[in-house]
Amino acid sequence: MRGIAPSIIWILVYLVLVTAPVALLLVGPVPPGAGFWWDLSMAVGFAGIAVMGVQFALTARFRHASAPFGIDIIYYFHRYAAIVGMVLVLAHFGILWAEYPASLGRLNPLVAPLHMTAGRVALALFAIVIVTSLWRKQLHIDYQVWRIAHALMATAALLLSVFHVHVVGYYTRAPLVYGLWVAFTLFWVLLIVHVRVLRPWALLAKPYRVVAVHPERGNSWTLDVEPDGHPGLRFAPGQFAWLTLRGSPYSFNEHPFSFVGSAMQPQRLKFTIKELGDFTSTIGTIKPGERAYVDGPYGVFSIDRQRRAPGYAFIAAGVGIAPIVSMLRTLAERGEKRPLYLFYANRDWDGVILREEIDALRERLNLTLVHILEHPPQDWTGARGLIDRSLLEQTLPREFREFVYFICGPVPMSEAVQRALHAMGVARRRVKFEIFDMV
Ligand SMILES: Cc1cc2nc3c(=O)[nH]c(=O)nc-3n(C[C@H](O)[C@H](O)[C@H](O)COP(=O)(O)OP(=O)(O)OC[C@H]3O[C@@H](n4cnc5c(N)ncnc54)[C@H](O)[C@@H]3O)c2cc1C
Repeated sequence: MRGIAPSIIWILVYLVLVTAPVALLLVGPVPPGAGFWWDLSMAVGFAGIAVMGVQFALTARFRHASAPFGIDIIYYFHRYAAIVGMVLVLAHFGILWAEYPASLGRLNPLVAPLHMTAGRVALALFAIVIVTSLWRKQLHIDYQVWRIAHALMATAALLLSVFHVHVVGYYTRAPLVYGLWVAFTLFWVLLIVHVRVLRPWALLAKPYRVVAVHPERGNSWTLDVEPDGHPGLRFAPGQFAWLTLRGSPYSFNEHPFSFVGSAMQPQRLKFTIKELGDFTSTIGTIKPGERAYVDGPYGVFSIDRQRRAPGYAFIAAGVGIAPIVSMLRTLAERGEKRPLYLFYANRDWDGVILREEIDALRERLNLTLVHILEHPPQDWTGARGLIDRSLLEQTLPREFREFVYFICGPVPMSEAVQRALHAMGVARRRVKFEIFDMV
């Protein structure tokens, strides 16, 4: 019951924010309309701008608002809300084009009124933002390039569409409506200022210092950072943060990584990072003493949200072990006695990240550890191949349906394990998963 109320409140806040600009049309004298299609076109236009404006709130990482859902769910919602916003804005344009073509005026920006060109450019920018986000990988757009372009184009599109509405002013001329519309505009501008100026500024005031960088198995590194002149942060085991190295929080060069250390020792934050691309391949060159910025904690992938389970089973592949090791280390320090199971899949034995640390944790926990290797050494007697239903059934205890499951690894593995667990009769609410890929 406790978790339900905040989520419902935030859903209501969202609905109010996206419907208010349309409701505004009903306040004060309605101008002599040109008919049903005209009014509908205006209504969907206002609704579209409202949805797009509130998109900035969805990615503003407001901790209280994201906590009931998990920030990854908010990001997925952001993605689908953008499509809804786009459909509404397109409908605004489409209805006018079909029913009132004269109202659109000339297309040529040299002769067309500035506010009409602004509206058209905003429409095109919204479309580009959405296409490049939905198909970024297929279009081979580098993540960093995409991120900067996304922020600039989305901001420009919103400001241009607000300018378009202000100058058209068809429904916003009445003083009360105009005042409310200005208030909305200010709200959206403040959101942009919060996301792009104030939040990075707050991070700048709380720097961290790299205190250790050491190599791990499987082309990975563990990086330790400590707060520099401030108390730092507290996190729940399994959560993650956005880490910035060799850049300021304004640089857009931040990457999400799970905390891998114990939540009982938040004064030293640890991240285990696998070399995968441009940024992660530089971790080995980072030196102690360098500056870091940590924006977190975020995420709901944590045993601390599932405290009453009679036992936990963790299923990881590769570097997906990071948040799980954080949970195991925390449980060990808390003197946990409940049964724990860890299924840990890797390509080969030498590349098993944090292998020795996990082994050592068995001494302190009631932990059954199952390694699964795709390419095992010749004398390997353990499980081989992929994690599947029969392996889970053979290993888990009889009361497995009451356990809570935490899965972290590549999407195909995560989906296959979720399917297996559901087929075994484990309720969906007991299966939690984290995907290391948001966009
Ligand atoms: C919640 C979460 C927790 C994570 N925890 C860990 C962890 O503990 N250890 C670990 O090794 N990896 C973790 N990752 C993955 C890690 O963030 C990416 O591997 C890393 O950002 C890749 O950056 P790159 O420039 O080296 O690689 P690239 O080759 O540039 O990118 C590879 C892919 O990673 C994603 N990516 C790149 N940059 C970013 C970014 N700034 N923000 C979000 N996604 C990005 C994109 O989908 C991109 O296509 C986590 C990801 C998420 C979402």
